[in-house]
Amino acid sequence: MTTPVKKRRTAFIHCPELESFSYPPDCPFNSSRAGRTRKILASMGLLTGPGRSEVAPQPATRERILTFHSPSYLDALIAAESGHLDVEGLRMGIGTEDCPVFKGLVAYASLAAGATMKAAEVILAGEADVAFNPSGGYHHAGPSKASGFCYINDVVLACKKLVAVGKRVVFLDIDVHHGDGVQWAFYDSPDVMTISLHESGKTLFPWGGFEEEVGDGDGLGYCANVPLPPGTTDSAFLRALDAVAIPLIRAYNPDVIVLEMGMDMLAADPLAHLNLTNNAYCDAIERILACRRPLLAVGGGGYNVENTARGWALAWTVFCGEDGGWSDMSLGLGGVMLGTSEWQGGLRDPEQVPDPAIQAEVDRAVDETIRKVKLNVFPYHGLTD
Ligand SMILES: [Zn+2]
Repeated sequence: MTTPVKKRRTAFIHCPELESFSYPPDCPFNSSRAGRTRKILASMGLLTGPGRSEVAPQPATRERILTFHSPSYLDALIAAESGHLDVEGLRMGIGTEDCPVFKGLVAYASLAAGATMKAAEVILAGEADVAFNPSGGYHHAGPSKASGFCYINDVVLACKKLVAVGKRVVFLDIDVHHGDGVQWAFYDSPDVMTISLHESGKTLFPWGGFEEEVGDGDGLGYCANVPLPPGTTDSAFLRALDAVAIPLIRAYNPDVIVLEMGMDMLAADPLAHLNLTNNAYCDAIERILACRRPLLAVGGGGYNVENTARGWALAWTVFCGEDGGWSDMSLGLGGVMLGTSEWQGGLRDPEQVPDPAIQAEVDRAVDETIRKVKLNVFPYHGLTD
């Protein structure tokens, strides 16, 4: 007799208040994506059922935010929102095109960060195997720096919280942008291994995250960067994930995996140049779940709003082990209107059929990256090849 596979317990971290804020209309960052994701899942009945819960967050406290950010930076954010933006604030990136000041900015950023804190609490309390905050993933923010639509770095705060109670953490970032804020926060520490797959800094903000960035001091070898060329396809992305990220995660043997899954690697994202379908995200998540560690997942970027919400909803179905049932169903069955004119076949994108010449070119570049990363990082972990 075989033992039945234990059903994963999943927690969706969200509250209606998160939907009451918005970045300025001319800003590509759309905070309604989390609410849209929730709406899709609710209409499909996928937020309820055995092992599933919805958990409401509280705003991150000032004390919590100051475990990473400087008091002067937090005060500058608060001051900017009330109309006092000086040169020092601008120097910190506040009020720039990428980090505009808007009504409710501090409340939103604190609540979004609090939602990632709540995800960490749920994981630490053993109440869920996977906790997902689609409103999280502000991986660019620095201690005294707003950057790339990010003000409060919820990922760093959560990793610090986990480390403070003795957990070994892997941060795996598959947002299309390099996870610079998190990388630099733990660059000289072995407590958090950061692994970022992203479009190369040669062609995309934040213009870093190269193979040679591998950590420093005690953190040497605990940072891995996998820059991908424009046009990267599902198979090339997955080959890099399998060749580099999964072996490193297994070698490091973390207590918790923190996953940032910005949906801006998807084809036709208006801010980036990769060519993935959401099938690749599903396959990536399956491989991460196969590592059998508690998983704290956050959203991140994704500038095609409908594709992003659909991708995150699909990711949730994979977390819950429900994907098989939904991938082939028509939208009408769940009563869901996704608002996309491109594909009406369900949450999954159509299978990709890449141009062979482009595929060959992408494969060559990705193989060269894999070779470099293995050379630079694997020896620190007793990994060969
Ligand atoms: Zn991004």
